[in-house]
Amino acid sequence: MKILLFDIDGTLILSGGAGSRALTKAFQKLYGIPNAMDGIDAHGKTDPEIVREIFERKLSIQPSNAQIEEVLREYLNHLEAEVVNSEGYKVLPGVKKALDVLSRGSEYLLGLATGNIREGARIKLSRGGLWKYFRFGGFGSDASVRWQIVRKAVERALQMTEFDDPDLILVIGDTPRDIWAAHRAGVKALGVATSKFSVDDLLEAGADAALENLADLQRFLELLEKLSS
Ligand SMILES: [Mg+2]
Repeated sequence: MKILLFDIDGTLILSGGAGSRALTKAFQKLYGIPNAMDGIDAHGKTDPEIVREIFERKLSIQPSNAQIEEVLREYLNHLEAEVVNSEGYKVLPGVKKALDVLSRGSEYLLGLATGNIREGARIKLSRGGLWKYFRFGGFGSDASVRWQIVRKAVERALQMTEFDDPDLILVIGDTPRDIWAAHRAGVKALGVATSKFSVDDLLEAGADAALENLADLQRFLELLEKLSS
């Protein structure tokens, strides 16, 4: 049994900025500020981390958890329409086929390790028909810090595989933050260079392996074998 924990944005899909637009609308509605996401680098950050950063940098407020949750609830009110109408939305190369193959049989258990809150993850993956592949995950609604999200995903995976000792637990993500979080949570990390970071960037960040994308399924499967030993 191999447990694979996928990041979402930049790894499985690109939302074409839908998440940023929905969050901008939430801040506009609740706090009256335009362009909340301008100058904010969201790569590899969790939803609650991004919201906190906007509060601190744009509003000079140290937000309470209740304030962060309120913004994220408002964000969800806008997200579905933004995702459905997003021209730049795409499923990244090879992802659909890889998930189809990996979800057959019982060798792999597929989960998510994402900074998205759970409902946001569902909305973003549903448009591409990918939500159905994932039976569990760790989300930005479980914790605000990425490595704790990974740990939560691992915990849930181990509950599901109680009688089956995994020979690999692997995070698959597109940013150094995914790599660091995986290692801090005690599991391996595979980098995919499908967004801002190159294969070299991801290896330099400590990735156990890195690929340009998941289009070469054979190579991906071989790496999974190699990482298991
Ligand atoms: Mg990502």
